Amino acid sequence: MNDIQGGCRIIDGKAVAAALRARVAADVAGLGFRPGLTVVLVGGDPASQIYVRSKDRAANEAGIAAQTIRLPASVSEADLLTVIAGLNADPEVDGILLQLPLPAPLRAQPIIDAIDPAKDVDGLHPVNAGRLVNGHVGLVPCTPLGVMKLLAEAGVVLKGARAVVLGRSVLVGRPVAALLTNADATVTLAHSRTRDLAAECRRADVLIAAVGRAEMVRGDWIAPGAVVIDVGINRIGPKQLVGDVAFEEARAVAGAITPVPGGVGPMTIACLLENTVLAARARRAA
Ligand code: NDP
Repeated sequence: MNDIQGGCRIIDGKAVAAALRARVAADVAGLGFRPGLTVVLVGGDPASQIYVRSKDRAANEAGIAAQTIRLPASVSEADLLTVIAGLNADPEVDGILLQLPLPAPLRAQPIIDAIDPAKDVDGLHPVNAGRLVNGHVGLVPCTPLGVMKLLAEAGVVLKGARAVVLGRSVLVGRPVAALLTNADATVTLAHSRTRDLAAECRRADVLIAAVGRAEMVRGDWIAPGAVVIDVGINRIGPKQLVGDVAFEEARAVAGAITPVPGGVGPMTIACLLENTVLAARARRAA
């Protein structure tokens, strides 16, 4: 699943994600029922529409019954909460995903708080976020879970490793830091107020970049042989996507690195499918 280029391993997220999706499909086939996933999409954000279509397609390919509830940007918070309550009560729905970001002035947190934690396949409900920080296994946010799976696939030993996570968002940085802590790494969580970011990064055996700044992490921020996971997705011009890491510079120094695209991105949907099956099993067994 990995190419070696000039001593640096390129971690092939597409291949790892395809293998995971195949495993999920095999799992679903053995369940004896079709897990149900409902995505709630509010408004017409073009990027969200594309993500939701991909989620829908991937879920149905894996044998999951996926549906998308599309609501206008003008929907009220109260009406959105009524939709969530309906999904919480529906026995055919195992997973609920609120597509983010919500259009202004809607606030995401009250809606996330209303999702049944047992159906929270995005892992963002405070109960699941709290479990993660407490070191328990529950529903874990999909992108951070994907990051951990790529590290495992690359054979990275996390116990005792120095890990630096760049970015402290609720969606990516914080849960990645918690997962790495739970895996016995020594974790530094860096952000926009961190002093001398480059020096912090250079101390990392494992560097996770999740800032949303095109190619901010340069080659000389990386320790020789370090493992670099680039979560960033930054659009440059109409067609090109780049990560938060300057890939060509980084791979001349790193021991292993994920490309953008084709690294963390494909893992997010594959982990969503896995979470849906996990939620379905746990709920229907309860
Ligand atoms: P947010 O904007 O929510 O968070 C960005 C974080 O980066 C913040 O903690 C911010 O610090 C920090 N940051 C911003 N600028 C700097 C800087 N100049 N120096 C140091 N730290 C900085 O982004 P997300 O976490 O949601 O996403 C991060 C990236 O990951 C984006 O490119 C996004 O597109 C991508 N992404 C990819 C996914 C995938 O499937 N591959 C899924 C989700 C996100 P502070 O807190 O101090 O403001």
